[in-house]
Amino acid sequence: MKALTLTQPWATLVALGEKRIETRGWSTKYRGEIAIHAAKNFPLEPREICREKPFLPVLTKAGLDLYDQFPLGKVIAVAVLVNVQKIQHAPEKHIGYQWEGLGGTKYEFPLTPQERAFGNHTPGRYAWMFDRVTVVLPSPVPARGALSLWNWPLPVCLVCTWRGKIELNNGICPQCEHDWKADGL
Ligand SMILES: [Zn+2]
Repeated sequence: MKALTLTQPWATLVALGEKRIETRGWSTKYRGEIAIHAAKNFPLEPREICREKPFLPVLTKAGLDLYDQFPLGKVIAVAVLVNVQKIQHAPEKHIGYQWEGLGGTKYEFPLTPQERAFGNHTPGRYAWMFDRVTVVLPSPVPARGALSLWNWPLPVCLVCTWRGKIELNNGICPQCEHDWKADGL
């Protein structure tokens, strides 16, 4: 499965569904399931930002008011990357994204004040939009992580929690028969 590493607290904000748009200086053509990985390194500056609004109330609500409560060096959620767009408008004129996907699915990613605060929406950067975030069961899974998009060999079936190398079974979980290859394993 493709995976993206985010520094905390942004990885957790994505896992909580509080941050639906990740901003990056680079783009990808990949669309589909993507593992959200919390970087092992949690530098001082992002630690300090957790004490500020709007970070503090959102993190407190989720029970994460101390730094050592953040998962680090682990895959914490799986989302679906549904769109990547170059940011064109100046932040004050940018209200968000709307489009119709395959099958007529309507997507809306408004650029709320919270979403602005949780990203860097400077024109020329890229907005990565995450839909259908699910938390990894039964608990976060340790992984090393990397720059850019990387491949995370699924060590556990995220549907039924069967442990083993699913790619050795042609991408199909031997327990629940979920086809992970079809989901971009
Ligand atoms: Zn399974």
